Amino acid sequence: MTAVLHVPAFKDNYIWLIRASTGNGVVIVDPGEAAPVHEALARLRLTPVAILCTHHHGDHVGAVAELVDDNPVPVYGPARETISTVTHPVGEGDVVVLHALELRLRVIDIPGHTAGHIAYYGAGMLFCGDTLFSAGCGRLFEGTAEQMCHSLQRLAALPDDTQVYCGHEYTDANLRFALTVEPDNADAQKYREAVIDLRRRNLPSLPSTIAREKSVNPFLRCRAPRVRAAAEAFAHRQLTTDCEVFAAVRRWKDSFIG
Ligand code: ZN
Ligand code: FE
Repeated sequence: MTAVLHVPAFKDNYIWLIRASTGNGVVIVDPGEAAPVHEALARLRLTPVAILCTHHHGDHVGAVAELVDDNPVPVYGPARETISTVTHPVGEGDVVVLHALELRLRVIDIPGHTAGHIAYYGAGMLFCGDTLFSAGCGRLFEGTAEQMCHSLQRLAALPDDTQVYCGHEYTDANLRFALTVEPDNADAQKYREAVIDLRRRNLPSLPSTIAREKSVNPFLRCRAPRVRAAAEAFAHRQLTTDCEVFAAVRRWKDSFIG
């Protein structure tokens, strides 16, 4: 059994700590900033056993060098990206075996936000960096809309009860957009109230679940008639495939000022 702790970093990043229910070993996911990680490790008396990175952006890998300086542990990261601190490059189908936590995480290639972005999935948990956010998805910095669309479809196919650990606390802003696309989505309305309450108490809105994302996230709902209609109204044309709907909704969000 494992537990996952959140370490807030920068303005809205989360660094995730996966710890075993017994022992002090901890796996650090996407450490962009060292100080809050050091603080959490000291406070909870945890010892890093590995670091996992989802993609090369500085807010996800910036603290790796400093952390391995103190504690030389294996650093897993995307084989298709260049990250100098990664010691164990991994890609689609690889399994990361974390003995200290009796945990096995499978790697899924999910390009779109960056060209080599990966996710780690196992034991009912998904660490998906900046690809899937709660009620949203990452911007297309390096990949195409088609790639991102397929990456999100793969994540949406994971079991409904999968706990979704995203790289940023963007949920409330994402829900404002989601409710612009689908004003009548009652699940999204209810979720937004819950998220506002959590954030007011300075608690994370994450993890989410795949079931929830399928009911509130417009980027996973390109098949829903209401989403398609809204995307067509935005694009001023008929959209024939789910990924065309996705591309239009993504462009819409890029220009959306909530
Ligand atoms: Zn990023
Ligand atoms: Fe990020």
